Amino acid sequence: MASYSILVVEDEEDILELLRYNLQKEGYTVVGVVTGEAGIARARNEPPDLVVLDVMLPGMDGFDVCRVLRSDARTKAVPIIMLTAKGEDTDVVAGLELGADDYVTKPFSPRVLIARIRRLLRQKAEVELDDDDKKVLARHSLVVDPVRFEVRVDGEAIELTATEFGILHFLARRPGWVFTRDRIISGVKGDNYNITERTVDVQIAGIRKKLGRAGRLIETVRGVGYRFKE
Ligand code: CA
Repeated sequence: MASYSILVVEDEEDILELLRYNLQKEGYTVVGVVTGEAGIARARNEPPDLVVLDVMLPGMDGFDVCRVLRSDARTKAVPIIMLTAKGEDTDVVAGLELGADDYVTKPFSPRVLIARIRRLLRQKAEVELDDDDKKVLARHSLVVDPVRFEVRVDGEAIELTATEFGILHFLARRPGWVFTRDRIISGVKGDNYNITERTVDVQIAGIRKKLGRAGRLIETVRGVGYRFKE
């Protein structure tokens, strides 16, 4: 089997070389570029399996690159991990809202980044299989059946509203993925639906309460949003 290809966009050459060394050791094929423009050109010509994208770049920054990759049919499904500066929660939120799948805060250990890469590549394969909206999801003690609109915890049926069901289904389809409130809203209802960020918090509180012990499966990621327990 061909190895996964990873495109690294990072202007700091020592970090780029560190990543190249560590990722190649893991068996990945690595292409390194030092500008956002070069990253986009490369990704369009030869879409990689995953992109590691630094936020701080000369010229186009990582956000610009993320936006372009997400709006191009050739690259829009490629998982993106952003490298963000320590303490910049707003960067994390912005990156996730632009469509990045995950982030690692600098300075990072290559081991942590590799774990995230492995997880995303695995999830990408699962989501492709799961992309059927009608698939019944079994996660821990929870079963979500989108055809019957049924949720069960340890076999017992739970009554949710349509919006609560939509949010739970959306999160449970991608365990371990962090979603901002905006992405949850657009994922569940489409961008034009008029619910606020605050409503998402209320809905999530409601879902957790109704799920009882299984409510812990929906985790709060401080300053960012929510994720379904991996
Ligand atoms: Ca940089």
